Amino acid sequence: LSEKSAALIAKENKYGAHNYHPLPVVLDRGEGVFVWDVDGKKYYDFLSAYSAVNQGHCHPKIIDAMVKQAQTLTLTSRAFHNDKLGVFEEYITKYFGFDKLLPMNTGAEAVETALKLCRKWAYEVKQIPENQAQIIVCENNFHGRTTTIISFSNDEGARKNFGPFTDGFIKIPYDDTAALEAALKSSPNIAGFLVEPIQGEAGVYVPTEGYLAKAKALCEAHNVLFIADEVQTGIARTGRLLATCGNCSCSNGCENNPEVKPDILILGKAISGGVYPVSAVLANDAIMNVIQPGQHGSTFGGNPVAAAVAMAALEVVKDEKLSQNAEYLGTVLRKGLNEIASRNPLITLVRGKGLLNAIVINSDEDSDLAWNICLKFRDYGLLAKPTHGNKIRFAPPLVITEEQIHDCLAIIEKALNDFK
Ligand code: PMP
Repeated sequence: LSEKSAALIAKENKYGAHNYHPLPVVLDRGEGVFVWDVDGKKYYDFLSAYSAVNQGHCHPKIIDAMVKQAQTLTLTSRAFHNDKLGVFEEYITKYFGFDKLLPMNTGAEAVETALKLCRKWAYEVKQIPENQAQIIVCENNFHGRTTTIISFSNDEGARKNFGPFTDGFIKIPYDDTAALEAALKSSPNIAGFLVEPIQGEAGVYVPTEGYLAKAKALCEAHNVLFIADEVQTGIARTGRLLATCGNCSCSNGCENNPEVKPDILILGKAISGGVYPVSAVLANDAIMNVIQPGQHGSTFGGNPVAAAVAMAALEVVKDEKLSQNAEYLGTVLRKGLNEIASRNPLITLVRGKGLLNAIVINSDEDSDLAWNICLKFRDYGLLAKPTHGNKIRFAPPLVITEEQIHDCLAIIEKALNDFK
């Protein structure tokens, strides 16, 4: 680590809360699939800010939209109307095929919004007795860091000494439709089922083919809302516009023919290309209309910069065919990783979909091996981050090329060989 980097990290450690554990590298520039550190060293970004920078760093079209809007009007709050919000709402609802949008800023906020919306629908439409609504969630979920969301987290570190927690959640195993069916039958007061189409933070756990469709059908049969948290999987990351999309091949990534249409769809991260905090909750009128003025909101939610940025970012997804690129290059990446695994027994499993992938390495969840491997990747010019002591996620910006994927595979193999 250079003196300059070390000094900047020391500042963070001294003056910043210790709520993260970043890899020791200090970045000051990004462009496309690359980022540079303060000493000018160039790296492949193989994390994309946890799948937020799908369109690549500092995409000129998104930056232009942001700058133009920022020079005109940045924030009115929702005390007044602004000229971008309605245009954005029409754009995004048509893009994803829903009646209405509730705009927020971060992923966790959007999850909270979806939970509130689901409960309100349960009391006012499904007529569950007051304060009795239950929402089914999955083991090993990750939906954010708020007090309600950590109430149903499995991560004991994220929960310890943050209680008391919020009631009203039933936790079942992920990728288990029998468990879902049993939970749905266990009470007449089930309001919703909150699920990640692929569990990203759990180490890119991809459920069995057909799981989501079966889960959706079960929810429908029990008049329970299927709530998809696509904060990490959405916006072309998994080779489809949404991970809940089916196998059609429309150029926009199949919003017209989804295999599993969620009742409530939660989006964040890459909806802005990582340029500006934007998140979204989408639902049809029968659900969204339960929210009345004054019952939910945020000062920044739906601001004109967010609207302009998100529209530009979603145009890029369509124009640059990022779903198709992610799908194709995902197969190239996994093929290459499996070839490395055949030469290096350190990799015990390669998994993922599109460009949301992980390798499982031969050690245990608490080891520091994955961390040390990521340090070695860094030394060789690639930035990735472990999800666990034995799992490393690979999620580059979706604008990456095939040649660059091969370049990255060479770096990955070279680094892993140092641990053989
Ligand atoms: N849901 C999922 C599935 C996520 O992966 C994340 C972030 N990793 C969140 C919600 C929370 O998003 P944010 O960090 O923007 O609050």
